[in-house]
Amino acid sequence: MYKSFTVKTKERTEVIEITQTVQSIVDEQGVSSGICCVFIPHTTAGIMINERCDGDVAQDITTKLDELVPRSSEFRHCEGNSDAHIKASLIGTSRNVIIAEGRLLLGTWQGLFFFEFDGPRTRTVWIQILREETQG
Ligand code: ZN
Repeated sequence: MYKSFTVKTKERTEVIEITQTVQSIVDEQGVSSGICCVFIPHTTAGIMINERCDGDVAQDITTKLDELVPRSSEFRHCEGNSDAHIKASLIGTSRNVIIAEGRLLLGTWQGLFFFEFDGPRTRTVWIQILREETQG
């Protein structure tokens, strides 16, 4: 059975680390070994794994994405948020992380991040954990 939680964003572009929230779901499921799929059902937000120790990295990523894909009235999409759709497509809507000994198996500097590109909004993150079958 999948789990979910919400992320409330306050800005049009915003990065929110969700590593601990996802880890707490792994904890409450009591899974020691498996795969954790993190998926968002949104077209103008993304999920990324990257540097968590220096918040400037996430800021640099959003700043560069804004330079690469500026908000523009030249896009055809009538909502006027095509830049957000394009950024979401570049980042992607899901990531899989190995679970080992009950922990998300991330590198020392890695964290899971929710990227908002068309906020402020209330967003949903879905989590499905596949538990490793034990042999014998
Ligand atoms: Zn749109």
